[in-house]
Amino acid sequence: MNNMVIDLRGCSEDELIRICQEIGLKRFRAIQLFQWVQQKAVRTWDEMNNIGKGDRQALRSHLHLYPLERVREQRSEDGTRKYLFRLEDGETIECVLMDYARTSSRDRHTVCVSTQVGCAVGCAFCATGLEGFRRNLTVAEIVGQVLDITHFVRQEDPEFQVTNIVFMGMGEPLLNYDQVLQAILLLNHGQGLNIGMRRMTISTSGVVPRIIQLAKDNPQVGLAVSLHAAQDKVRNDLIPMNRRYPLAQLMEACQEYTQITHRRITFEVALTAENAKREEAQALARLLRGQLGHVNLIPVNPVAGTGMERPDPELMRRFAQVLEDAGISVSSREERGVDIDAACGQLRRQWEGELK
Ligand code: SAH
Ligand code: SF4
Repeated sequence: MNNMVIDLRGCSEDELIRICQEIGLKRFRAIQLFQWVQQKAVRTWDEMNNIGKGDRQALRSHLHLYPLERVREQRSEDGTRKYLFRLEDGETIECVLMDYARTSSRDRHTVCVSTQVGCAVGCAFCATGLEGFRRNLTVAEIVGQVLDITHFVRQEDPEFQVTNIVFMGMGEPLLNYDQVLQAILLLNHGQGLNIGMRRMTISTSGVVPRIIQLAKDNPQVGLAVSLHAAQDKVRNDLIPMNRRYPLAQLMEACQEYTQITHRRITFEVALTAENAKREEAQALARLLRGQLGHVNLIPVNPVAGTGMERPDPELMRRFAQVLEDAGISVSSREERGVDIDAACGQLRRQWEGELK
């Protein structure tokens, strides 16, 4: 075995079994280790009290455990919590826990996970996009967000379990494809947090080849497509990715995705004072004809420097009505964490601004 140190939180059970074998430890140690990290969400080696000190020492020389540093935590009146985490190299990312317990009888705890530091796509309305791309997150850093939130919330509520994951934080998940897919396997693992594949959703701005690849590689995980506009001339300005993969190609990929997976895609549409118009709604209804999907309307979260404004709620209702009349399933997303700047990238920006 070489001396390369491996990130413990990014390791599969099989990798841990292999490492334990190589350093002369029993197989059950690997299973214990995996459970401490992925299920009990501990942040230090010292907490792993059923693994003897000597074995822990041997493992430490091969495996690196780096918990994320909680730089900030904001709590919204509606139960949403937003975390700013610092990574080992000093970069910061955001992560949000949407706590539905207060509004629904079924306990649902959704974590919105970041997949990159910054984002290269550069959407016109997005705080993360304004910052440009810094780097991809590792598997350990992606899973680590869910583990650390679990750890922190369990300090107040020992029974706490994350039930759903949305890859809707900072970054474009399909441009960090391999890491995101591996993170999903870890989050789904029966000896880990055991989050059902169907309770995890990847959101993409429209990386066409990867949408088709995802259908083949993991047909169970959910897909959300950030559509936002139904005409190329409008979408080009909002999502620069549209110039590379225009709407016709994107919709073709969506058709292929549903043919392979038989799953309904969620189409995200952020409405602004500018685009919440009847003509746009009609174009959207035409675009989605024959596509198995559901439209989620969101009022845009105004980000300083983008010039985007929230639409009148009445305009949103009329927009939804046009879609419903065309037989399209539509919901208007209840806004969460508005009082704590919950749009992705906003907290990091604010924090970096304070440092300057
Ligand atoms: N990069 C992926 C996932 C992260 S963004 C994507 O773009 O889909 C998650 C969602 O938040 C996307 O639907 C994105 O369009 C939306 N979003 C970003 N900034 C927003 C804002 N200011 N207001 C409303 N939605 C926003
Ligand atoms: Fe990137 Fe998504 Fe933000 Fe667009 S909306 S810049 S794809 S994170």
